[in-house]
Amino acid sequence: MKLLLWLVLGLAVLYILRNKKKPAASQPTARAAAATGEAEVMLRCADCGVYLPASEVLYDLAGKAFCSDEHRRRHA
Ligand SMILES: [Zn+2]
Repeated sequence: MKLLLWLVLGLAVLYILRNKKKPAASQPTARAAAATGEAEVMLRCADCGVYLPASEVLYDLAGKAFCSDEHRRRHA
């Protein structure tokens, strides 16, 4: 019975360590969103219609959202 307890505890520690490592590898804004428990706002590219996190969106002068610089230039 004690062995099972240690096994569960070990798995819990591994799970926590893995969750801590993942956000550190991604962007700071995504980490902040994860820390507050909020889902990041998703915006739609005005050119191709793909949805992407607000932190990765590029805006043109009119304030339209784009997924990439190429799409932003194509739309201008
Ligand atoms: Zn696009």
